[in-house]
Amino acid sequence: MTKCKFCNKESYVKLKSPKIHLCKEHFIEYFENKVEKSIKKYNMLNKDEKILVSVSGGKDGHAAAWVLKKLGYNIELFHINLGIKGFSESSLKAVEELAKKLNVPLHIINLKDITGKTLEDIRGKKCSICGITKRYLMNKFGYEHGFDVIVTGHNLDDEVSFILNNILNWNIRYLAKHEPVLPAHDKFLKKVKIFFEIEEDLILKYAEAENIPFTTVKCRFAEKAITLKHREYFNELEKLRPNIKYQFLAGYMKNRRIFKCEEDENFEFRECEICGMTSAGRICSFCRVWKLYKNKNKSNSK
Ligand SMILES: [Zn+2]
Ligand SMILES: [Zn+2]
Repeated sequence: MTKCKFCNKESYVKLKSPKIHLCKEHFIEYFENKVEKSIKKYNMLNKDEKILVSVSGGKDGHAAAWVLKKLGYNIELFHINLGIKGFSESSLKAVEELAKKLNVPLHIINLKDITGKTLEDIRGKKCSICGITKRYLMNKFGYEHGFDVIVTGHNLDDEVSFILNNILNWNIRYLAKHEPVLPAHDKFLKKVKIFFEIEEDLILKYAEAENIPFTTVKCRFAEKAITLKHREYFNELEKLRPNIKYQFLAGYMKNRRIFKCEEDENFEFRECEICGMTSAGRICSFCRVWKLYKNKNKSNSK
């Protein structure tokens, strides 16, 4: 039996750097310290802030809520029922279990109540519409209910695959925008990714070690996303060069200023003509993808 580096118990996980074995208890301690260090390093959160954690039912958001609660932060949970058959039911169940175990308030919004439709009902790029929808509804809810910050479970694997995807497409503008902390402006709340530097594998190990409830049911619309392919290459590369994901991200953080352009920094946002939230254009992307301007015209003509 392989033993823990710090005690006589059986190894639960082998870390890549430093290359050591840890038992379950020492791994939990290691993981929570690592998250706390990240929070301090990027000045992500403080204990006076009212934090809204986005939970989709999956391990990342759930582990984020769990670790923040253990570290003594003031959190509440936010979930959107997207109305995707099979997936949404099991997500909802996991989210409710989590809220009960953590003993924190859970806010649930039904997409259909707001847009009249579910994600099942729409045609077109469901993944990108889903992303726009989640970001918008979470921000609007947080803004209207006096939260200071929104935390999401995006992890190191998400970040490196987004960055790679934006390099492949030369989306220079998006390349300037991968940050662990996005400061608040206008009606946009501060947004924080506490797992920015933390690998997905470790989050899964932590969720299992702590018996955190989560669902493994995947959204069937997400399967073709190209960023899933990027994750696979990165995991292959990790086998040849351990820690390459972290090094790629660290190099990006050091050099990301080269992608910033003045035009974007001085960009003036306005208020969406339909919903009044902060928007880059006349109508925000949420109102645009859900065609909410049509509803407005209808109700005006009544
Ligand atoms: Zn140990
Ligand atoms: Zn709008």
